[in-house]
Amino acid sequence: MRFTCNIVEDLLPLYLEDMCSEDSKAALEKHLQECPACREKLSRMRNSEIIPKMKKQESNLSITDYVKKIKRHRIRIGISVALISAVTVCLLTLCSLTIFDMHRQANPTIFFEEAGVYDLTAEELETTAAEVGEYIFYTNTQHIQVTIPQNVDYESEIILWDATNRDDPTEIGYGHVDSGNKTCSFSSLSAHRRYKVTCDEEEKAALTISDGRIINFWSSLRNVLEEIIGK
Ligand SMILES: [Zn+2]
Repeated sequence: MRFTCNIVEDLLPLYLEDMCSEDSKAALEKHLQECPACREKLSRMRNSEIIPKMKKQESNLSITDYVKKIKRHRIRIGISVALISAVTVCLLTLCSLTIFDMHRQANPTIFFEEAGVYDLTAEELETTAAEVGEYIFYTNTQHIQVTIPQNVDYESEIILWDATNRDDPTEIGYGHVDSGNKTCSFSSLSAHRRYKVTCDEEEKAALTISDGRIINFWSSLRNVLEEIIGK
């Protein structure tokens, strides 16, 4: 069978895809040998065929890359969002606890009326070196502060006792006041314990005992962090 140029033109796409029968292929190749016009058509089709195929591959590749890129990007965004959320939650929690601590310190709860116990949370005590040792103190601010008047000039050792067992107080802290350092603070105390302060200065020396309340954001934040760390 001899193919005409029109038949060949119809078959060329199938020939290029290698989808012709062996007979058609042979007849087509025979025609091509004899017909420069169809050879030219074939060569043009090949060129135009190859380029789109390559383009198609390229675009397939780039779509795969693009999808991978998007996936990676999404994973990165996911991780970032998770991290930022975690940090935000931590910061908000810390801020809330800090504000709660400030509020607690500004509005101390007076839990009890305990016989013989002076509640420093309710009121500070002005006393003397001779008398201070007779008091048992309560604080729910974790602090006890001993202050000497600004206008006096003496120095003294201050001793803090755990007087939870009133008959047998234990020395737990030691401080010093003098003309340059009028205040001595004891911290990390507990509302569940009772305390006692003694002072070795001459009997008439005036002292103020307070719960050392310092209400500010940073000291409350430090309290909260100390509690979290378990100090
Ligand atoms: Zn031809």
